[in-house]
Amino acid sequence: MRIPLRRVAGVLAALALTIAGVLTGPTAAQAATPAWPTLSGGTSGPNVASAQFLLRHHGGTLTVDGAFTAGTTTAVRTFQAANGLTADGVVGSLTWARLVVTLDAGANNNAVRALQTALNKYGYGLTVDGAWGAATTNAVTSFKTARGLTGGATVGATTWQWLLGDGGGGGTYALVIGRSVLPRTEYDDPHHDYPAIDLPTNSGVTTYAITAGTVGHAGGGCGYGIGITADDGTYYLYCHLSSRAVADGARVVAGQVIGYTGSTGNSTGPHLHLEVRVGGANRCPQNLLLALYDGSAVPAPATLPSTGCTY
Ligand SMILES: [Zn+2]
Repeated sequence: MRIPLRRVAGVLAALALTIAGVLTGPTAAQAATPAWPTLSGGTSGPNVASAQFLLRHHGGTLTVDGAFTAGTTTAVRTFQAANGLTADGVVGSLTWARLVVTLDAGANNNAVRALQTALNKYGYGLTVDGAWGAATTNAVTSFKTARGLTGGATVGATTWQWLLGDGGGGGTYALVIGRSVLPRTEYDDPHHDYPAIDLPTNSGVTTYAITAGTVGHAGGGCGYGIGITADDGTYYLYCHLSSRAVADGARVVAGQVIGYTGSTGNSTGPHLHLEVRVGGANRCPQNLLLALYDGSAVPAPATLPSTGCTY
């Protein structure tokens, strides 16, 4: 039997990791490198923003808004065609491998913006300005050390794969509607009576899962409602949709399309009503949504306030 050399190298590398694990005890380094995420039309969130920054770094002309719209698909196809890849407009492992670039301290470009956006998924709270200064060095060092990654503060393909393929301690989050749909000022508005938020959209706006979890259909005053029970137990409720795009009981990931805004149930006009519940009690979603809008550190749901967002 002929064993490809690459495979032998992989086995040796795995063996070396195993030996290192025996010598040093259990560490995060023993975990498998996460798979590259697959991004395509309709997805949104920080990984989309990172892909958009990387496309711009390679000369692409597109808006960076964290929403995978038609303009992003076109830019991906252009990049793929120029790099000998199948121009399918989907960002998978082969496209990521060409998109990411090796970065070091002092760099100042759109690839650093992609890096800062990805680091912020893990709560580093960096300013996404493309300038790799001390704060970015500290974040990279912290991130790599926690995962046993070598090579100092250099960000190479493996570090990129960890940054983009993993979700960070609090899980991966995505904006609930496209970033261009509403201005930032709509995400800090208080809600009548109890902690929640009303996002005043038109009808038919694509709505995304805020994080990974299991879908439960909601009804009554919520109209066509979608509840997502996240992996950390947090419950996210979307109300008044015009239609749902996922089945009751379905498993969703952050940024997956779950439905379209509307005005069903107890509603006087099209809007998206959103609630965040921790242990059954409503929390104020505003700080979470603002962090997602800004691409900054996402607060853990359990740290969101339970008062101060009502009128
Ligand atoms: Zn409401």
